[in-house]
Amino acid sequence: MLVSIRGKQDQDMERSTKAHLVCMAVPAQGHINSMLNLAKVLHSKGSFITFVNTEFVHRRFLKNPESLSSLDGLPDFRFASIPDGVSPSNDGDEHKQDIPNLSLAIKNNCPAPFLKLLSSMNDPNSGVPPVNCVISDCFASFTLDATTKLGIPNVFYCASSVCGFMDFYYCKDLMERGIIPLKSEDDLTNGYLDTVIDWRPGMIDVPMRDLTSFIRTTNRNDILLNFIIDETHASHQATAIIFNSFSELESPLLNACSSMLPSVFDIGPMCLLSQYISNDSSIPSFGRLNLWKEDLGCLEWLDEKEPGSVLYVNFGSMANLTSKQLLEFAWGLANSACPFLWAIRPDLVEGDTALLPQEFSEMTKGRSFITSWCPQQRVLSHAAVGGFLTHCGWNSTTESICAGVPMICWPFFSDQQINCRYICSVWKIGMEINEDVEREEVARLIEEMMRGQKGKEMKKAAMEWKEKAFEAAKPGGGSWINLERLIKEIITKE
Ligand code: UDP
Repeated sequence: MLVSIRGKQDQDMERSTKAHLVCMAVPAQGHINSMLNLAKVLHSKGSFITFVNTEFVHRRFLKNPESLSSLDGLPDFRFASIPDGVSPSNDGDEHKQDIPNLSLAIKNNCPAPFLKLLSSMNDPNSGVPPVNCVISDCFASFTLDATTKLGIPNVFYCASSVCGFMDFYYCKDLMERGIIPLKSEDDLTNGYLDTVIDWRPGMIDVPMRDLTSFIRTTNRNDILLNFIIDETHASHQATAIIFNSFSELESPLLNACSSMLPSVFDIGPMCLLSQYISNDSSIPSFGRLNLWKEDLGCLEWLDEKEPGSVLYVNFGSMANLTSKQLLEFAWGLANSACPFLWAIRPDLVEGDTALLPQEFSEMTKGRSFITSWCPQQRVLSHAAVGGFLTHCGWNSTTESICAGVPMICWPFFSDQQINCRYICSVWKIGMEINEDVEREEVARLIEEMMRGQKGKEMKKAAMEWKEKAFEAAKPGGGSWINLERLIKEIITKE
């Protein structure tokens, strides 16, 4: 079977009149969370949704009971999956995420099954309304093939920050100017990465070390570098592009983007918009799609802690640490004397089990809670949490902003370097840890964040951003107005 579809099958008369939107997600936890939030919001505005995953993640959702029940969806919110050609790993390690190969596999293997899926849904006997519009993750530009053939609008959804998107987009110019790829490995350490890039419209001037980690290559044909260039430039062919952001946060960037790309809509923070609809009891809802089992026990542990006293530590779904880095963070946390909640994914330490020494457990007993995966948004909004040690993924960043929690930043890869720069230098709600993490610095920054003057200032700024985020995302706010405009001008346009 080329595609598989799950969902409640009961029909209703209303269905046939709804705008049918097909949301194509890329197989990464952060992208799926963000796209699912957008899909739920669009569903609440009266759309019929088919949410499409690729099999790489779909297989894993089927194995996680909480996610499996979410896949039942609703009569007018169904899930589908298409093959991506990535076979389950031979060594049984289903957590393995080989990002370059996964990106290539999607690009090469998904266009045909996606076309088949769209065509099957447009069949009058399919039992679903014909497809009005495709909403594609902007890193799934393979969908353009099918939408062009079938004459269906294709709106890209950028789950990254606008600064992250633009940072990727301008890599083409960096290449044309001969700035990248690096001439030799020495450029990583000889000061070349201190070169300031000061000509990118809309963006602040930054040294090259704050650009996407994907530029740190000497290979002109590097898979990920070329992938991000191709995918961001493919957005010229999209009908419109949605950013998970809001204008107060990224105004100069959104303006620059609008002058270069087709219709740009800032509709975010998506985690807040979706919260507004899940608080509306008249709208039926369903759960989340998690690749790992969520541990709710950490919320009870937080309940017992003083307001603002706990540091939350989480590096997202893809970052990998070396054993040494893990130990530096661990001893930094231990030496800080601060209570902390740390989510350590089973695959956080590459090629190794994340083992923490016995002395660490003894030293932090009573003030630490270690788990593998937690309900992050609920954790960040918990009164006990006073700071977030994060890898600066865009979902984590926006979730932290929406909770008014300042950040200690240790960007790992992708758009995280530039997110970190904006968090620390523009929004002033974070402090950065050196790439070569050392326990003394970790402990010092935790102390400063949780008890120092700088921490107080960042908390104040974080609360101000939280307020602006709520203003944008509340019904009637800038992001809702943009959402309604998108629906009227693009999605339901005859
Ligand atoms: N997340 C979660 N529990 C965890 C870790 C992460 O629910 O223990 C969620 C988090 O709320 C966010 C997403 O996973 O929505 C991670 O996305 P992000 O863009 O921050 O980072 P990525 O995983 O893509 O690097």
